[in-house]
Amino acid sequence: ISVTDLVNESYTRINAVEDKVKAFVTLDEERARQAAKEMDEALGTDNANGLLFGMPIGVKDNIVTKGLRTTCSSKMLANLDPIYDATVVQKLQGAQAITIGKLNMDEFAMGSSNENSGFFPTRNPWNLDYVPGGSSGGSAASVAAGEVLFSLGSDTGGSIRQPAAYCGVVGMKPTYGRVSRYGLVAFASSLDQIGPITRNVEDNAYLLQAIAGVDKMDATSAHVDVAKYVESLTGDVKGLKIGVPKEYLGDGVGEEARQSVLEALKVLEGMGATWEEVTLPHSKYALATYYLLSSSEASSNLSRFDGIRYGVRTDNAENLVDIYKNTRSEGFGDEVKRRIMLGTFALSSGYYDAYYKKAQKVRTLIKQDFENVFEKYDVIIGPTTPTTSFKLGEKTSDPMTMYANDILTIPVNLAGVPAISLPCGFGANGMPLGLQIIGKHFDESTIYRVAHAFE
Ligand code: GLN
Repeated sequence: ISVTDLVNESYTRINAVEDKVKAFVTLDEERARQAAKEMDEALGTDNANGLLFGMPIGVKDNIVTKGLRTTCSSKMLANLDPIYDATVVQKLQGAQAITIGKLNMDEFAMGSSNENSGFFPTRNPWNLDYVPGGSSGGSAASVAAGEVLFSLGSDTGGSIRQPAAYCGVVGMKPTYGRVSRYGLVAFASSLDQIGPITRNVEDNAYLLQAIAGVDKMDATSAHVDVAKYVESLTGDVKGLKIGVPKEYLGDGVGEEARQSVLEALKVLEGMGATWEEVTLPHSKYALATYYLLSSSEASSNLSRFDGIRYGVRTDNAENLVDIYKNTRSEGFGDEVKRRIMLGTFALSSGYYDAYYKKAQKVRTLIKQDFENVFEKYDVIIGPTTPTTSFKLGEKTSDPMTMYANDILTIPVNLAGVPAISLPCGFGANGMPLGLQIIGKHFDESTIYRVAHAFE
């Protein structure tokens, strides 16, 4: 099979299903076909040894791509044509993957269902009435629908793992600092992390290996060697100690999700692992802490979209203040405005100590919860989400029930630790469930080892 065949396969599938799934905002067909041609010419030479040679990949639309429109699914950036490639995109090119196009998302990565996209919602390929999750909904749906083999998403508060769970694919949020954020449009900089979404664990390990590593363009990227993750796919979990937080199987978590996790634990026990109930006592504050901190960071990060520095400038302004005001009023959707208002309020003088500073302290307690458990256990296991996917429109009227979706994924971002979501059976509605495996800082290898035991 040639690279051209692979790329053909990808666009054929896109042509067949994309009008229903709507995973892509922009396709890059001409350049992808050209790249495939060049790779086929290189076949059999030394110029054909990239880790992802010829593999079709989709990239979330908040990761900048030189000469390829990057919108964050926002009207604000509808015409942004970046002048550089994100570090992960350069690394994909180095690994000889082929970018097929840019994937739909909730606007500026704020959302859990893709319904906040400024353009159109992506649908869940398992059932088009259901949401694919978010914010990396296009990334998960494109892989689940077979449009691409790999995709990149970003995860600030669950946005890789939750859509991976809802779409029945594998999604990894790496340790904070594992993957460079240079060229990722910032939402909440202390939480954002880029990661791989794939059909299976092995592909996932390859893709992380290709994109991970320290980067001089991102001062928060870590000086920690990148392991050869594929070498940890031994399936050996003998002697592994698993902690299962009681908060992840208790109130608010659906029976189906609970049962599927207990089944998975049985499988691991059968292979020689042991598990015990543990506690992450500050989990109940995670949602409030996350929405306070992430909105505060967002209110600052999104100030650059003013129609002068970035953003589609309003036609309707007579002076500078009007340019700012009208550009932002017209360009941002409701959810983005809600977060900016929340964050601006939390950071305003007089409230800073009561909200932002307090949330920072709670974040430390949440991080310590994980450290305590990891003193005795190798990994933490629980469901990725409390339930399976829901129908489009079901939760749009109430932001609070939408936010509650992220209750099991958000603590991981606050602690900065890595976690994967794997397919783990189906609910009564026929929609996939996800198993979440959480590891120690920079110990993605153990997560992959445990995850691979299910394949
Ligand atoms: N649903 C969360 C939010 O809306 C997750 C976002 C993310 O991880 N990018 O903030």
